[in-house]
Amino acid sequence: MEDLTYSISAINSIGHYRIFKLMPKDKALEYKAGHFVMLNNGQIGRPYSIASAPSWPYLEFVIHLIGGQFTSYLEKVKVGDELKVKGPAGHFTYNDEERLILIGGGAGIAPLMSITRHVIEEKKAKVDLFYSSRYLHEAPYLSELMSYAKAGLINLHFTVTREEIGGFRHGRFSPEDILKLGDISDATVFLCGNMAMAKAFKESLEGKVADFKVEAWG
Ligand SMILES: Cc1cc2nc3c(=O)[nH]c(=O)nc-3n(C[C@H](O)[C@H](O)[C@H](O)COP(=O)(O)OP(=O)(O)OC[C@H]3O[C@@H](n4cnc5c(N)ncnc54)[C@H](O)[C@@H]3O)c2cc1C
Repeated sequence: MEDLTYSISAINSIGHYRIFKLMPKDKALEYKAGHFVMLNNGQIGRPYSIASAPSWPYLEFVIHLIGGQFTSYLEKVKVGDELKVKGPAGHFTYNDEERLILIGGGAGIAPLMSITRHVIEEKKAKVDLFYSSRYLHEAPYLSELMSYAKAGLINLHFTVTREEIGGFRHGRFSPEDILKLGDISDATVFLCGNMAMAKAFKESLEGKVADFKVEAWG
């Protein structure tokens, strides 16, 4: 796998999250919705899920700035700076399934965003997306997802976990929320979160759905 050179073309801030758009300098990466890549600055690198749809001319990432080694570097980059991209990698990919249940929170929305955007373009699958955010003002892509839901393209289930906001659900999702959808025996679950969350959902839902895919970061 070669390192491809990309240039940062836009940076958007949403609280502690940044959305980066990266344009290829030369050759563009080919990938599937749900893949991740290694982003690096020539010295250090970390894996990040791609949030854009594979047909798009640029790569998009949503990154939670946690003050670690690489995210501290990303806090300082500017439009025009270059990053190396190596990949794609991972098994958390969309493979033409027709019924999807997507579950994730915070930056875990990244691969689910790629899958949602791709599926909407392809008009192929029925999607229930369970998206949780700690705070309403720190929910990347919420307005885009709400517009898809309003247009009837996805069923969006959104919850805010650390504050109570009128008109919005409060508290974490549980496997019971997924089971309330009814017959989900033909559905593939894509869950992007931590190990504990993945374990809890997998134990409750495995056997009741067609497939269960996990991307666990920590
Ligand atoms: C397949 C894969 C895909 C990923 N995709 C994304 C993505 O799309 N967006 C994204 O923001 N991150 C993503 N990550 C996490 C990312 O790779 C880095 O781990 C993260 O950005 C922290 O890197 P750092 O160098 O700043 O922190 P480091 O210097 O490596 O770590 C600093 C400290 O913070 C802790 N820490 C690490 N991550 C978190 C966290 N999220 N919250 C709180 N503490 C943490 C570490 O345990 C460590 O103690 C992904 C990870 C994997 C494995």
